[in-house]
Amino acid sequence: MSMVNLKINGIPVQAEAGSTILQAAEKANIRIPTLCYLKDVQCVGSCRMCLVEATGARGLVAACVYPVSEGMEVFTNTPKVRKSRKTTVELILSTHKKKCLSCVRSMNCELQKLALEYNADEDRFGTDYAAKPIDDLSESVVRDNSKCVMCTRCVAACEHQTVGVIGPKNRGYAKEIGSPYDMPLAHTSCVNCGQCIVACPVGALYEKSSVADVWGAIVDPAKQVVFFTAPSIKATLGEAFGFPVGSNVEGKMVAAIKQLGNVKCFNMDITADLTIMEEAHELIQRLMTGGTIPMFTSCCPGWVKFAEHYYPELLPNLSTCKSPQEMFSAVLKTYYCQKNGIAPENLYVVSVIPCTAKKFEIRREELGGYTDAAITTRELARMIKEAGVDFANIPEAEYDMPFGEASGAGVIFGATGGVMEAALRTASRLLGGEGHPIEFKEIRGTQGIKEAEYNVGGGKINVAVANGLGNARKVIEQIKSGEKNYAFVEIMACPGGCVNGGGQPYVRDEVRNSVDLKALRASALYKQDENSKYRCSHETPAVNVLYKEFLVKPLGQKAHALLHTTYHQRDKY
Ligand code: SF4
Ligand code: SF4
Ligand code: SF4
Repeated sequence: MSMVNLKINGIPVQAEAGSTILQAAEKANIRIPTLCYLKDVQCVGSCRMCLVEATGARGLVAACVYPVSEGMEVFTNTPKVRKSRKTTVELILSTHKKKCLSCVRSMNCELQKLALEYNADEDRFGTDYAAKPIDDLSESVVRDNSKCVMCTRCVAACEHQTVGVIGPKNRGYAKEIGSPYDMPLAHTSCVNCGQCIVACPVGALYEKSSVADVWGAIVDPAKQVVFFTAPSIKATLGEAFGFPVGSNVEGKMVAAIKQLGNVKCFNMDITADLTIMEEAHELIQRLMTGGTIPMFTSCCPGWVKFAEHYYPELLPNLSTCKSPQEMFSAVLKTYYCQKNGIAPENLYVVSVIPCTAKKFEIRREELGGYTDAAITTRELARMIKEAGVDFANIPEAEYDMPFGEASGAGVIFGATGGVMEAALRTASRLLGGEGHPIEFKEIRGTQGIKEAEYNVGGGKINVAVANGLGNARKVIEQIKSGEKNYAFVEIMACPGGCVNGGGQPYVRDEVRNSVDLKALRASALYKQDENSKYRCSHETPAVNVLYKEFLVKPLGQKAHALLHTTYHQRDKY
């Protein structure tokens, strides 16, 4: 790899030939502000925030796209550069609905931060934003174009998902982000993944909040409120309270939830284990009886909706298992209510999830309406702050029984490859004794597509894992063309899996651009798995009690009625 020598602000820097000024500056720990640039998502040089002076260039150049060259001198902090950036921010603010006091992104907004840093005069060019209607028909995503800065990061994120239901329309001053035929997002083939939300630098995109409903239930004397938290929340919630990326804050999270009021807090990792019990048995049954193969996982509602819109012919290949969220709510509103003498309508079930698609999932009629509210990691953080809980110093607490302790297999559900690994741990033991080591490391990691061949129960099976819907599409097309042949395929809609879901805490671009968010968050889950008392889903005591006392057996009549579901084709727009 050839290197070039340049100077940035007088500091000698070596950078790979072909890299950009922005990448070279990052290596030298020199910060250049960005707005439209986002690592792994978009690099178009359109917002003009990263302008710098460079020898050999005419005028200011965009550091995110301008390549380095031998002997180049770059200046990132001259009066000309600062004036340009300040004017850019002031022009953006002239068409921006400035409502920082009540904005969902306040204190975490990239525009607000730039305005402060460059001492921008928010009224220098007046304020002229046409009142644009808020699109809030979607169960998952709210769009407010009056706060949009036209960076198009959301458009790029949606295109990476190969969904592409949002894009720029009109020209010049009238340009804005819209959907095909100006349809509300809810009427398009949007899969509710929320990747556009986490890519957005400002408050123009956010989840539809259920926080007010949950507070209402907590103070309703007729209701008993139970929360349960998805596997990845413990690895991300801390970021909203200043903990470093990759911190596992499970004990503090449970303690903080219990401070919200008279509520119980259960562990959704247990129904991740329950999902594996059903899914591993389903896979074995399909393999033994000549059922539809490859079997695809079904725990990701973004992926399920994607298949319904874009690949309806594959719906028989999807596992019929409900997601862990829906299994938990079904168990709570039946078994738990019966056991504790609670009328199901008086039990208010709150799922804490990393994902905006789960908000859509709870409204799917075929799932029975067992979940009352699904709140994202960000919404939980807001509730904890609103309740005045001192998260950093709160003593750790444990989940409530009987749904406290899960296996490490349930924990790793939150990372790409985790569902596959959990299923293989149990399937290989159900079929072939203790033959295979507990860990299936070939399918770990943040690569978009992973493949492996395993010996399970004396027979070889090929598996594939895809994260991000663009990668899912590649795997599906290879299967359809006959180029690839798998028995089992795991798909998670979000790049990196649930740890990088659309409901996870906002991470500023300067952090996202410099750390491997997905890998760091996943490592917190793998560490917990390593130290877990149980490593396989079929070892989890609460799961075994559930079968003994209520569900009878995996894929049995009762389990099928409560824990399995159906899918249906949807139109494509
Ligand atoms: S998007 Fe940012 S600048 Fe705009 S109102 Fe919200 S916090 Fe303020
Ligand atoms: S939620 Fe996902 S599919 Fe829908 S617009 Fe956003 S990125 Fe696209
Ligand atoms: S909605 Fe957000 S991400 Fe999309 S263009 Fe506007 S500011 Fe950028």
